[in-house]
Amino acid sequence: MSTDDEEVRQVMIVFTHPDHRLHDPTEPHRFGGTMLPPAEIAERADRVLQGLDHAGGFDLRRPPQVERDSLLDVHTDRYLTFLESAHSRWRVATGSPEHAEAVAYIRPVPGTPLTRPTHIDAELGIYSNDVDPILSGTWQAAIAAASCAAAAAEAVVGGERSVYSLSRPPGHHAAPEVFGGYCFLNNTAIAASRLARAGMRTAILDVDTHHGNGTQTVFWERGDVLTASVHGDPTVHFPFFLGHADETGAGPGAGANHNYPLATGTAWSGYSEALGAALDTIRRHKAEALVVALGVDTHVAHGVLALEGNDFGRIGESVAGLDLPTVFVQEGGYEAGVLERDVPAVLTGFLDRS
Ligand SMILES: [Zn+2]
Repeated sequence: MSTDDEEVRQVMIVFTHPDHRLHDPTEPHRFGGTMLPPAEIAERADRVLQGLDHAGGFDLRRPPQVERDSLLDVHTDRYLTFLESAHSRWRVATGSPEHAEAVAYIRPVPGTPLTRPTHIDAELGIYSNDVDPILSGTWQAAIAAASCAAAAAEAVVGGERSVYSLSRPPGHHAAPEVFGGYCFLNNTAIAASRLARAGMRTAILDVDTHHGNGTQTVFWERGDVLTASVHGDPTVHFPFFLGHADETGAGPGAGANHNYPLATGTAWSGYSEALGAALDTIRRHKAEALVVALGVDTHVAHGVLALEGNDFGRIGESVAGLDLPTVFVQEGGYEAGVLERDVPAVLTGFLDRS
């Protein structure tokens, strides 16, 4: 909203839930030959909140608990049952204490007949694709994250113009039956499904530096939600196995999946070209609502792409150019200084142009 004399930025609703703290892993894992401490930790949400507080103009709210039906729009019933009970079953099977972290150590060999073993260690391997741990509070934290996203979508269905969901753990690497990449429930897909169920033509724009492989898998054959992802080339970057430009969907979803992989170190000039192409695709789709999978790990500090400084405000401004009701869902962003600075930059960039 603006007048000739003054400019008053709209206030943006933010959904955040304290239960995210129940998933706060501490055990190091081996990545590329080095033992590293976990990067997806509770402190991430604190840093975003600090940034929002500093920027001002955000209205923090706690969401109601998401309905199981909204989770079933995206995930299978058996996966939800597994996730909810995995840690307690693992403790019974292994005698581990409550604070221990359950991690898969074996997976089925591709192409071999898959009988379904019932031991929890086998199920951890069936339902995950990397070394993410399940803690005693992971389910409750994932539900809190999904609740934020569902409430944000509900608010947009109710007429809000833009809402931010401070979801953690993040979601865009979670597929209907797979957790991985720090993600357990696909918050972005849950928000988009809610908008689509309300009859709005819905698009997802994923600007995290890693391909939204889980989101692509959720909507691959659906066609009710258009997906567009701008990310580092999966030939050399996580999640490696999906995210190429020729992956366009199948069945009713044919032509509704769009990938824009970029070379390592791509800075704003190359990035903005791909972002512009993704936004044009969403325009041509005549979308009526948008979900932005908001990763800020495109920052140069993360070693994939090379955005910095005002580039994040420019992302927000570019998205505002679509002039659509928009749900922002938090995805990645880890390195020091990035979350607290670049998340508010995207959101205020959006509001300033809305
Ligand atoms: Zn990421």
